Amino acid sequence: MAEVLKVALVGIGKIARDQHVPAIRASADWILAATVSRQGRVDGVEAYTDIDRMLAERPEISVVSLCLPPVPRFAYARAALAAGRHVMLEKPPGATLAEVQMLRDLAGRKGLTLFATWHSRMASGVAAAKRWLSDKQVTRAHITWREDVRKWHPGQDWVFEPGGMGVFDPGINALSIITEILPMPIHLTGATLEYPENRQTPIAARLTFSDGVSADFDWRQQGPQTWDIEVETGEGVMVLHEGGNRLVIDGQEVPGSGAHEYPALYARMARLVRDKQSDVDVTPMIHLADALTLGRREMVAPFDF
Ligand code: NAP
Repeated sequence: MAEVLKVALVGIGKIARDQHVPAIRASADWILAATVSRQGRVDGVEAYTDIDRMLAERPEISVVSLCLPPVPRFAYARAALAAGRHVMLEKPPGATLAEVQMLRDLAGRKGLTLFATWHSRMASGVAAAKRWLSDKQVTRAHITWREDVRKWHPGQDWVFEPGGMGVFDPGINALSIITEILPMPIHLTGATLEYPENRQTPIAARLTFSDGVSADFDWRQQGPQTWDIEVETGEGVMVLHEGGNRLVIDGQEVPGSGAHEYPALYARMARLVRDKQSDVDVTPMIHLADALTLGRREMVAPFDF
């Protein structure tokens, strides 16, 4: 039987509690051996407030999983890699592309695993969508990603601070799926970004890409929430609903993989560590950076939680 891996979870907030802790606890591959968080803790698990102290006192913990927002995450990731630990990054993998490049190089030099996770790529319908599209000619594709920021990020002001990505925080999940399933590479050709006049990041974005691909992200959606990707081909239409978890081809439901996103991420991390591999794909972040570079900025009504 493979050795059980000890992991320290860093940044005990919404996603750590909602997804990481249950996924780790349900897996035979993993033991949650410590947490590092200024205030958060998990019952029954030794809690540190300082990453350097945890790294010094717990040499048997071989993996560090980082659930912090993107801006503070880099310093923690670099410290963990410098101390010889494998590292798993929440999405997006950094606040900037250069940071992620530096982490990838550091992990490579030290022979450690770095996994830049994209949880939406693990959604139940994504692999089947990718298989179906692999031999098709795509004529048009559209992403509709509309949700209520008050519901999903209650009071999280960091999403509207520089580096917080605004509506791209969920939108990058759609970009992670579309860059996984399309049979051809795409590049961004234009964007319109709506900034609340009291905020630093967009609350809505409309993107156009090469090859007839477009996206509509909006964080002001009330009522039903929409996370859909529709792809038209010469041989039919495919729609991924519910953030990649439901696949419909030409009106027919297609059974998914049954995978759950975070358990699948931890299973992949265990394999990467055992195989001494890394997985760092920054393609979704490149599109996000290009949107912020090319985007036309529009001011909209102030936003407060
Ligand atoms: P969060 O709850 O606001 O933050 C996670 C924790 O990070 C906080 O509880 C805080 O813990 C720590 N933290 C925050 N700012 C910090 C700072 N400046 N320095 C050090 N620690 C800091 O955020 P989240 O919603 O869990 O999101 C974290 C990451 O997961 C983001 O990249 C997000 O895109 C991703 N994600 C979130 C969701 C979701 O539904 N929320 C879903 C998928 C992925 P302490 O105060 O205890 O230090």
